[in-house]
Amino acid sequence: MFSADIITLFPDLFPGPLGASVLGRGMADGLWQLRATQLRDFATDRHRTVDDTPSGGGAGMVLKPDILAKAIDAVAPVDDPRPRILMSPRGKPLTQARAHELAVGPGVVVVCGRFEGVDQRVIDARNLEEISIGDYVLAGGEVAAMVLLEAVVRLIPGVLGALDSRDEESFENGLLEYPHYTRPQTFEGVDIPPVLTSGDHGKIAKWRQEQSLLLTRARRPDLLKH
Ligand code: SAH
Repeated sequence: MFSADIITLFPDLFPGPLGASVLGRGMADGLWQLRATQLRDFATDRHRTVDDTPSGGGAGMVLKPDILAKAIDAVAPVDDPRPRILMSPRGKPLTQARAHELAVGPGVVVVCGRFEGVDQRVIDARNLEEISIGDYVLAGGEVAAMVLLEAVVRLIPGVLGALDSRDEESFENGLLEYPHYTRPQTFEGVDIPPVLTSGDHGKIAKWRQEQSLLLTRARRPDLLKH
């Protein structure tokens, strides 16, 4: 079973949206599991300190490497095969391709940063794979971890009902998805494109392919280079 471990200062935020709808059902059906661990439980002093001031000066606080390493080792001993991931704006951007790779693996161990981030030595010592969810800065890694897990868990076999609807989705074939329509036939004076109600499946497929290309060229020309 796909097993996700989250290390966070806010374990109560989980499962949050990951417990809703198809992902929640998948969890109830035993297709995946989630455990959120309180980083503070690994602190060693009376005040349960997890952070300290940045060496070299500057604003904010940094998560201490010794406490974080203990937490990582507790949830994932050295022989645990799961990738150890750190949510980080400096990381490799999350892609659908990486989500697919993770979805067929044993699970993930995800560290959620807070404050200014994490001491570099624990990133190196525990070989943390830094993953970003986009070029903006969040206050903490929790929402980013949820984004990563939501993208991955829906790809675990059995979690989504209609398997083949996935191939045509945005990014699956390097393109953005074509536009969707459903009834009513006329909405505020606008009809569903006639080709979609023609019953001609060859024409429909061709139209969708064209729309995908047009949208991708207009909005994400960078995708066409691949
Ligand atoms: N000082 C850091 C930002 C820290 S934000 C910098 O300039 O790079 C605090 C935490 O939020 C980070 O440690 C990370 O875990 C999380 N976070 C913020 N933005 C993120 C993003 N775009 N993707 C993934 N995680 C992010």
